[in-house]
Amino acid sequence: MLRIAIAGASGRMGRALIQAVHQDNAMQLSVAQVRPENTLVGTDAGEMAGIGSIGVQLVAQLPNQADHFDLLIDFTSPQSTLSNLAICAELGIPVVVGTTGFNVSETAQLNAFAENIPLCVAANFSTGVNLCLQLLQQAAEVLGQDSDIEVVEAHHRNKVDAPSGTALAMGNAIAETMQLDPEKDFVLSREGITGAREANTIGFSTIRGGDIVGDHTVIFAAEGERIEITHKASSRMAFARGAVRASHWLAQQQAGLYDMRDVLGLR
Ligand code: NAD
Repeated sequence: MLRIAIAGASGRMGRALIQAVHQDNAMQLSVAQVRPENTLVGTDAGEMAGIGSIGVQLVAQLPNQADHFDLLIDFTSPQSTLSNLAICAELGIPVVVGTTGFNVSETAQLNAFAENIPLCVAANFSTGVNLCLQLLQQAAEVLGQDSDIEVVEAHHRNKVDAPSGTALAMGNAIAETMQLDPEKDFVLSREGITGAREANTIGFSTIRGGDIVGDHTVIFAAEGERIEITHKASSRMAFARGAVRASHWLAQQQAGLYDMRDVLGLR
């Protein structure tokens, strides 16, 4: 039985993860962590997530001694994830990271932990999005040179980072195939007199509103035709189930940096 710790347990993803772990017969929730100032500290994690009592109380700190949990699932914020990773690296515990919005230096810090522990990092843990990453690379191979490529994403009003980590992951997958440089060739926003669109760039547009779980469309616009590849998430359980699947897989791996395409065998 794989003992799971969930960080940010009271967040939107935290609650979905508690449900997904509870539904899996081969794992059990052993630690559910929230911010120290959270008034829910001490209450039952299952009650909070709407699945009834499971006998695991919300705690303010991830235990920093061995033998409380076998794997951490962390969907929180970049700073919180990095401090949790420091604890897990000390303990030699694998971590599944779903947090997005890391800047360049935070990404370097994140990746460095993979020298010591198995680390699975993905901006999107849904099976559908990871299949889309492959389809996008195939489309870029065939259409990339003759098309203008635009990524459009929509999320709920409370999302704090833009463009979404998934939109950037889609851009990165295409950039890899077309040998583009994300630093130079991504156009993350447009305003005013922008001039004509430059070839070999990837544009990004962001929509925020309501309770949209996560929509992404990549447009390959050529002369006389266009292709659009769209993914729409209708429930956070798609991400939570993917993270559970990644956890089982990661628990069997050596130290290293992996993503959901490794888990799904899509490389
Ligand atoms: P949320 O705001 O509902 O939840 C985040 C939780 O993390 C909150 O409960 C917050 O209190 C907690 N947290 C933040 N900083 C903390 C700290 N320092 N100590 C303790 N707890 C802390 O957000 P959400 O919608 O659940 O998303 C969380 C993250 O996961 C975001 O980065 C989001 O973009 C990402 N996300 C990833 C995927 C994926 O498949 N990879 C899917 C959905 C969301």
